[in-house]
Amino acid sequence: MKVSIWRNNQDIRIEEVPTPKPGPKEMLVKIHSCGICGSDVVEWYRLPRAPLVQGHEIGAEVVEAGESVTQYQAGDRVFIAPKVPCMKCDFCRRGHYPVCPNVKERLPGGFAEYILVPEILVIKGTYRLPDNITYDQSTFIEPLACVVRAQNLAGIKEGQTILVLGCGMSGILHIKLAKTKNCKIMATDVNGSRLQFAKKVGADISLDAADNILEHLTAEHGKKADVVVICTSALSAVDQAWKCVEKGGSIVFFAVPGPEKQVTVPINDFWTKEIKILTSYYCGPPDIAEALELLKIGTIEVEDMITHRLPLKDIGKGFQLVIEGKESMKIIIRPNED
Ligand SMILES: [Zn+2]
Ligand SMILES: [Zn+2]
Repeated sequence: MKVSIWRNNQDIRIEEVPTPKPGPKEMLVKIHSCGICGSDVVEWYRLPRAPLVQGHEIGAEVVEAGESVTQYQAGDRVFIAPKVPCMKCDFCRRGHYPVCPNVKERLPGGFAEYILVPEILVIKGTYRLPDNITYDQSTFIEPLACVVRAQNLAGIKEGQTILVLGCGMSGILHIKLAKTKNCKIMATDVNGSRLQFAKKVGADISLDAADNILEHLTAEHGKKADVVVICTSALSAVDQAWKCVEKGGSIVFFAVPGPEKQVTVPINDFWTKEIKILTSYYCGPPDIAEALELLKIGTIEVEDMITHRLPLKDIGKGFQLVIEGKESMKIIIRPNED
């Protein structure tokens, strides 16, 4: 079978490896669709594990289940989480699933024709796809789950004023989800077509990132933002977040600037205003269940975000499209198509 080996964003090679044979408690699944995540192209984050097969947003079909696997069989359509927390440690019990120290096995990357699903993920990480969720739509389960988690952490509620900085895929998902809570949403980006799209999917106002966002925010809503969600690695967005958050509000780092950039927190100013600075990373089983439900009942539509469907051989091009962030929104790799 073919897999794509990522060494860095300029060096992604397709290699032929033997198709694995599932053991009694494992499954072999065929990857129909696998989304490229914004985090896949973040080299400082991914390089420590390179060379590796990336891809954690999958839509797959079971082709062979080991003899002891009773809950799934060939032909089942599934999403599989990239890893599962233990649900027993202190972190898990407090809902901090992404930092569970007991994760031993990860799902192999989905930029491959097939993957072998380890036992723990067969038992705890596999979700049957409802009939109305396509393989392409399945690639949104994990990113939407991360967005669900971030908004829950920030306590985003009905009617709040939300500022979304960055309108790539995650920013757009944040807008769509906040819209379902009847929030007032302002969004920024440097890309005009993304700003248009943000407006189309629910932002009340979308503005060029270079604009005076604070002025627009107060003119429009008479206040600053209850929650600012940072969905870009641009350092300027961090300064905007500091300026645009309302007293008692929250700033969520959904994306971070990167280790080479220095961030200074105006903590003396924030002290008297009770500002919360939050980070949100990845998701947990309840978030996945919630995301799956949102997609299933159609509360969140994702089809409009898919701009490219590429075969595995074009994965390098897919990564470049994500890095450029111009004409693309969601790029899906279909490893089993030519
Ligand atoms: Zn992701
Ligand atoms: Zn745990």
